[in-house]
Amino acid sequence: MLGAPGSGKGTQAGILSRRLAVPAISTGEMLREAVAAESELGRRVDSVMAAGRLVDDDLMAEVVRERLARRDTDHGFLLDGYPRTLPQAATLEAMLPTLGGDLDAVVLLEVPQEILVRRALGRGRADDEEGVVRERLRQYLEKTEPLVGHYEDAGLLRRIDGNRTLDEVTAQVLLALGAGV
Ligand code: AMP
Repeated sequence: MLGAPGSGKGTQAGILSRRLAVPAISTGEMLREAVAAESELGRRVDSVMAAGRLVDDDLMAEVVRERLARRDTDHGFLLDGYPRTLPQAATLEAMLPTLGGDLDAVVLLEVPQEILVRRALGRGRADDEEGVVRERLRQYLEKTEPLVGHYEDAGLLRRIDGNRTLDEVTAQVLLALGAGV
């Protein structure tokens, strides 16, 4: 799932995970849990996340490699918030053969910028203060948006209008994945 902060990808990932019976792997959620648990990982990412910047690619590679090695991904998985940079996409592509699979599709949730900021500000998360929301959006445009072209070239991109009701977005994604509605 690809989309700017506030695009609804986390919400949709949760719904799709139930509908498709595959685990939704949210790196943001994993990192927030690590921060809350005050683990070694949490201590390393806390200030970066609080500032709305991205955790470095090598550390994310470790987190994702470990998570994908778990058996619950054997029959598929949904990634929410990873990859977020071109090097992360390269890392994921290098990991996939050892996991015995390939990406089926990359879903891009498209939402106009002014709506993104309004949505993110209404969520009440620790990193949802306005300056941080704008920084996360800046990071998305600079580092994550290049993935759109990358996955378009690979023929994997499915563009979805994310500025609709929750149910409509879910239905559109399932349709785009050929999973029916
Ligand atoms: P999210 O819940 O996906 O919006 O992620 C929340 C925060 O976690 C981001 O603003 C980043 O600081 C960090 N994060 C999550 N996923 C990644 C990733 N793939 N690469 C770097 N940082 C990430």
